[in-house]
Amino acid sequence: MGKLDGRVVLVTGAARGQGEQEARLFAAEGASVVVADVLDEQGKALAEELGALYVHLDVGEEENWGAAVAAAKEAHGRIDGLINNAGILRFNALVDTPLDEFMQVVRVNQVGCFLGIKTVAPAMEDGGTIVNTASYTAVTGMAAVGTYAATKHAILGLTRVAALELAHRHIRVNAICPGAIDTAMSNPAQLDPNADVEGMSRALDELYRKLVPLGRIGRPEEVARLALFLTSEDSSYITGQPFVIDGGWLAGVSVI
Ligand code: NAD
Repeated sequence: MGKLDGRVVLVTGAARGQGEQEARLFAAEGASVVVADVLDEQGKALAEELGALYVHLDVGEEENWGAAVAAAKEAHGRIDGLINNAGILRFNALVDTPLDEFMQVVRVNQVGCFLGIKTVAPAMEDGGTIVNTASYTAVTGMAAVGTYAATKHAILGLTRVAALELAHRHIRVNAICPGAIDTAMSNPAQLDPNADVEGMSRALDELYRKLVPLGRIGRPEEVARLALFLTSEDSSYITGQPFVIDGGWLAGVSVI
């Protein structure tokens, strides 16, 4: 018995990184996964490997959402899980951030999450689940990522309100708040075919050894296990909550 037997779960930004690991784990736990991304080649290859459906979904485009839900329903007759995972990050001091850049991040991270809830929840089976991907920066500040942090704080607001508004249908809505996770977002070497990816991962571990109590960067597979918990019956009495997964980073600072 898988933890997601019979469930149909759409994962955005699933072509790589945390979304990819969520798609892999959910498929292994019996879900029919809908792999959604703008990276069509990678997304299709993953979907083929998993026997899953691939849909091109730019999360900032409302029409794309309608088409993705229709495709999921046509293929599987239902949809009862959503992982709003797609996200982008830009580095800039707030005073140096062009408005275009601010709006680009809002469009993907915040509008994408809103449109996911707005489009999928009405089409979803009662008893469904939504997991929104926020961040460590949803619950604390971090210099140089102000735009990103603003959108991730907003995702917690969306999560709480959606949980309240959808509870009567037993649709549970929660958020995950990862710290530093070893994907292309934190480790862009993964996108460079000539880079020493393992060397870079070791360097990141060294950096986070000093910053994070558990002494290393997190792995996307670890985030996927939290997303599974929040998507499965194991979390049946939990809704409207942020879940920090950060190796203890947020616990405080050490003075020795
Ligand atoms: P990633 O860059 O490897 O993956 C992001 C995915 O989102 C990619 O597949 C990308 O193609 C997709 N995407 C980007 N724009 C999109 C759009 N408009 N429509 C659909 N898909 C789009 O990074 P990741 O770490 O796997 O990121 C997953 C989520 O985790 C993001 O929301 C990110 O903000 C969040 N997060 C990451 C970290 C980290 O350290 N890696 C920490 C906290 C939160």
